[in-house]
Amino acid sequence: MEVAHMLKITKFGGSSVANAEQFKKIKNIIQQDPTRRYIVVSAPGKRFSADNKITDLLYLLDAHRKYHVDASSVFKLIKNRFIEIKNELGLKQPIEKELDAFYTNLNQMSQAVIVSRGEYFCAKLMAEYLGYAFVDAKDIIRFKLDKSIDWDATSAKLQAKYAQYDHFVFPGFYGTSANGHIQVFPRGGGDITGAILAKCLHADVYENWTDVSGFLMADPTIVQNPKGITHITYSELRELSYMGASVLHEEAIFPVKEANIPIHILNTNRPQDAGTIIQEHSKIKSGYPITGIAGKKDFMSIYIYKKHMSNEVGFIRKALSILEKYHISIEHIPSGIDSFNIVVEKKEIEESLYEILAHFKEELKPDKLTVQDDLALISTVGKNMSDKPGTSGKLFGALGKNNINIVMIAQGSDEINITVGVKKKDFTKTVQVIYDTFVGGNEE
Ligand code: ASP
Repeated sequence: MEVAHMLKITKFGGSSVANAEQFKKIKNIIQQDPTRRYIVVSAPGKRFSADNKITDLLYLLDAHRKYHVDASSVFKLIKNRFIEIKNELGLKQPIEKELDAFYTNLNQMSQAVIVSRGEYFCAKLMAEYLGYAFVDAKDIIRFKLDKSIDWDATSAKLQAKYAQYDHFVFPGFYGTSANGHIQVFPRGGGDITGAILAKCLHADVYENWTDVSGFLMADPTIVQNPKGITHITYSELRELSYMGASVLHEEAIFPVKEANIPIHILNTNRPQDAGTIIQEHSKIKSGYPITGIAGKKDFMSIYIYKKHMSNEVGFIRKALSILEKYHISIEHIPSGIDSFNIVVEKKEIEESLYEILAHFKEELKPDKLTVQDDLALISTVGKNMSDKPGTSGKLFGALGKNNINIVMIAQGSDEINITVGVKKKDFTKTVQVIYDTFVGGNEE
């Protein structure tokens, strides 16, 4: 694809548009790359950790209105944030008037209209500041009666705007229902809007600018200065996020995932950082045998042993159906010939544990039933592992050398992850040893 024809959807999250300073950074980012022509913005987020997100204030405004409590002070906070941005950037937009009219008409508005105004006003200011057209999401993003996205209508409307404008700014988070009312996505839904634009306009890349430089190979509170993940597949991402790494919302990425459009996570405050590219089918191979490590601490393992269990049909099913009755979801079931473990998250089972064990005793009549409640699980994830023999051997060897006792092992059938269970006290050390073994200079 020629660069000149490259199409990017460039989305900025709440902290990236939090104040005039951030707007300036965005202008720089846009000017660095002439292919950043279609911009999606969230509502202004927090400027510092104790600050308010505009969207939270709008929900609060709606609650005040609903319970007939004076909302003027909340409104003032919202208005001031926008006016401050406008004044500091010297913009001309008669936004005060529009904000005041919004407040005057508050009682005629639905919650969706109210909470969507954060992105609406932000996009209007951003459009003027960048000298781009403002395109209102209410005229473009369409929902069906079942509240799902009306892809045909949305796509057609987007194509038309794309043909009309070389550059535009688009508010995230909302669209119009089948009945013609404003409808919002779930919280954080600005990412969904960006993904919809990327899919409908067949973008080459969906840039998602935020306040971190993408994903790291390990938790920085455990590993000192972990390397960034430059490329990751959706399946790897799913494994890591399941084990606690915080990542994009599944719903936010499905439109681009389906279309195999890469998502590039970038940092508005450090635009020089490489960030992370997420793409399912990519030719680029990372140099490391693993992609990332993630883990969680509080698991419990129930060990069940019964002589000649292997000859008994339906034994494991009986155990699982007892857990099902208590709505407990199971993480892993490593099994031997006459025994198996059921690994669950501690918080899921804590309250009902003794009742469940009593059921196990009564219905399964095991010869041995024990509980280990200080288990941590650590997943080592990487698509490169699947075609590299010896990865698990190397991992187990390294843990052994460091005197870490492995209590449980599970490997997904697609071979992109190896999960080990260790005692909670060994959690930090395990993550560090795995990182050092595969990334920290010891790799082959
Ligand atoms: N402003 C909305 C929220 O705070 C949507 C978004 O930021 O993506 O949830």
